[in-house]
Amino acid sequence: MAETVIPTTIPTVTGQEIAAIQDVLRTRTLTGKGKYTVLCQRWLESSMIGGKAFVLSSCTSALEIAALLADLQPGDEVIVPSYTYVSTVNAFVVHGAVPVFVDLDDATMNIDAQRIEAAITPQTKVVVPVHYAGIACDMDTILAIADKHGLLVVEDAAMACGGTYQGRALGTIGHLGCISFQEKKVFTSGGQGGALLINQESLAARAEIIYEHGTNRGQFLRGEVNVYRWLDVGINATMSEIQAAFLYPQLQAAPDILAHRRHLWTRYHQRLAPLAQTGVIQLPQVPEGAIHNAVIFWLRLTDASRRPEFIRHMAAGQVCTQAQFVPLHSSPFGQQVGRFHGEDRVTTRAAAEIVLLPLYSELTETSQEVVIRRVLAFWDDARPSDGIPGLGS
Ligand SMILES: *Cc1c(COP(=O)(O)O)cnc(C)c1O
Repeated sequence: MAETVIPTTIPTVTGQEIAAIQDVLRTRTLTGKGKYTVLCQRWLESSMIGGKAFVLSSCTSALEIAALLADLQPGDEVIVPSYTYVSTVNAFVVHGAVPVFVDLDDATMNIDAQRIEAAITPQTKVVVPVHYAGIACDMDTILAIADKHGLLVVEDAAMACGGTYQGRALGTIGHLGCISFQEKKVFTSGGQGGALLINQESLAARAEIIYEHGTNRGQFLRGEVNVYRWLDVGINATMSEIQAAFLYPQLQAAPDILAHRRHLWTRYHQRLAPLAQTGVIQLPQVPEGAIHNAVIFWLRLTDASRRPEFIRHMAAGQVCTQAQFVPLHSSPFGQQVGRFHGEDRVTTRAAAEIVLLPLYSELTETSQEVVIRRVLAFWDDARPSDGIPGLGS
């Protein structure tokens, strides 16, 4: 009998999605901005301090609206980590902005807040902290620097819905926050989706116009004007009601989903701690005041040259593991349009060392045990890994 393969990730499905979708089919409001859109937006707004949330087709479209709100001119600079998904940077580069990549903090693989200020020039307009792995960036430092230099802070909280920093939801701390509900995140709106969180009152009116395709349809629907007209640029990034209906039951189940995933995350961390102590791996460190959302679990092989062998060893034990992002500053387009500020001490090395272990809402402790034992076996001299020569070191 073939052993079941344990994948790195499986989209969250609660079982309540179909009933909500059937409710949408009954009402025949499919296009979005209906009952479930409102419910999802209220859920997001309940963790905000007077802000406004729009659920959208993707986090990429949220970042695109954020870039429009930033009113960038060609040559303006945006400070970002290089270790992130391309969308973080593309949204700004489309407007002719120059990405200025800043090195990572070794403990979290988030942007090193201490290195941001040195990268600021008169052209700098925006800072985009990415809460990698749902672990909060050093937002106090970032907000203080942004305030001092008059910069817009756009949180890329794509991975981070459910995570907090000093009691505040990630995505609700900067001027704007961008969330993803793509299937690899903790909560999904049926495979694709996202949200824009507007935490700065002065940006809310224009954000709504851009979201309403460049019109004041929002005001029209509230009865504030008799007719709606074309006022500005805009995009159609509306989330369909079917997607919102898929998402809402997951948001309602958030406490249970997060508790289970955090439990598994902590178990990985505890069981692999002895390997970290011997120095063969490095594990994420969650900063004081941050509560992560357990979207992924990463470890780093101190000897990056052994990563392909490690991934093959795990696969031979029916466990899928994977690397993540290739740094953007060393990618062909990144070299063309951006620059790395200062020394690359962590980014390239950490990106070459990282491996993601299986973590998803349906993962059981039994399957996790298979993963943990397989990881431990890689460094276990006494037990060559399942008879495959040369794989135990
Ligand atoms: C997933 C992800 C995105 C993109 O989200 P989409 O909803 O797929 O557009 C952006 N940034 C980061 C850090 C991500 O992990």
